[in-house]
Amino acid sequence: MTEQTKTSESAVGDVVLEAVSISRDYYLGRGRSGPVLSAVRDVSLSLYRRGVVAIVGESGSGKSTVARMLAGQETLTSGEVRLDGKVVHLKHRRAFRAYKREVQMVFQDPFASLNSVHTVRHHLERPIKIHRGIQGKQAIEEEMYRLLTLVSMTPPELFLPKYPHELSGGQRQRVAIARAIAASPRVLLADEPISMLDVSIRLDILRLLSDLRETLELAMLYITHDIASARYVADEILVMYAGEIVERGPAEEVTQSPAHPYTQLLVSSAPNPDALGSSLKTGTKIVPGQAGSALSSIVGCRFSPRCPFADEQCRTTRPPIVPTNDGRLVACWHLEQAAPSSVALTTKPRTTRAKKVLEKPD
Ligand code: ADP
Ligand code: MG
Repeated sequence: MTEQTKTSESAVGDVVLEAVSISRDYYLGRGRSGPVLSAVRDVSLSLYRRGVVAIVGESGSGKSTVARMLAGQETLTSGEVRLDGKVVHLKHRRAFRAYKREVQMVFQDPFASLNSVHTVRHHLERPIKIHRGIQGKQAIEEEMYRLLTLVSMTPPELFLPKYPHELSGGQRQRVAIARAIAASPRVLLADEPISMLDVSIRLDILRLLSDLRETLELAMLYITHDIASARYVADEILVMYAGEIVERGPAEEVTQSPAHPYTQLLVSSAPNPDALGSSLKTGTKIVPGQAGSALSSIVGCRFSPRCPFADEQCRTTRPPIVPTNDGRLVACWHLEQAAPSSVALTTKPRTTRAKKVLEKPD
C-alpha cells in the first residue's frame, strides 16, 4: 500500500471509541499482598471513523490488555472506555451483546480463533443471525456471499463448506475478518493480525484491513510489534513500553524521526529504517533486549534500565509528557539530548548512538 491508501485520501471522521486513562493491574502473589504488575498504565486513545491507530511495542508491553479492555473482555482497574462519548458499562449480558455488535476483534492466531469442528458457513451464519437479526435462508446466504466477497474469498460457494484445517493461514484470517465484520461493527480491534501469517501474505491482509476500513468506514486499532507495518497502515502511532505510552504522534513523524530512545531503537532495528515497510516482505527482526518490567514498584521511567540517556532522575521520577515541535508527545526527561531536532533547532546524530547502547541491555 502506498501513501494514497491511507486516510489522507478521505478525511478521518468522528471519534467512535475512546480510552480515557485506562489502567490494568494484576496481582502476582496470593491475594493482594504480593507484587503488583501494572500491565497497562494511563493509556488514552481515540479511534476515529475511517482512521487507524496503531499500538506498537514488544511482547509483554500491554498491547493485548489494552485491546481486551476496549473490547469489554477485561475489567479496568481505573479509567473509562467511551463509545460515542458515553461511558461503557457492560455488567449485563444484553449490554455486552449490544457492545459486541459495535466493537469486534480480530486475533493473532486465526486457527485458534476459529472452531475446528465448524465450517466457514457456521462461523458466518451465527453473527449474521445474532447481531444483525437477518432471517431467511436466502437472505443469510446472500449476506455470507457478500462477506466472503469483501474479504476476497471467491467464489464464496467454494469456501462456505470448508473447515478451518482445509484453508491456508491467510484464508483462515480472511474468514476471521469476515466473521468480525459480519456483525457490521463500527470498530475493529486487530491484535497482531498478521504476525502469525506467512511473510508473503502479510501485505495482502494488511491491504485488506486498510480497504475495509475505507469501504466500511471502520474505526480501527491495529496492534503490532512491527513498527514498519504500523507506518504502513496507521494514521497515528502509539509506542508502548512496559505498559505505558512512551511516544505518540502522526505515523510519519514517529517513524521518520523517532524521538523517544525506545522508538529510536524500534526504528533502527527495522531492516531498513529509511524504507520502513520493506520488513513486510522480508520478515521482522526481533528487537534485542528483554521486555521492560511493569512492576508497580518501579517509580521512575520504565525504560531507564535500557536507556543510554538515563540518570538518577529517570530512575526515581516518572518522566513528564513533553510535546515536540511537530505535534508528538514523548515521555522523556532528556528529550533535548535524545531528539534535539524535535525540541530545538540544532540537530545531532542520535539514532546510531541510541542503537549502539540500547542493543546491549544489562
Ligand atoms: P502484549 O500483548 O503487548 O504482548 P499483554 O497485554 O498480553 O502484552 O501483557 C502485558 C503484561 O500483562 C504481561 O507482562 C503479561 O504477562 C501480563 N498479563 C496479561 N494478562 C495477565 C493475567 N491475566 N494475569 C497476570 N498477568 C497478566
Ligand atoms: Mg499481545
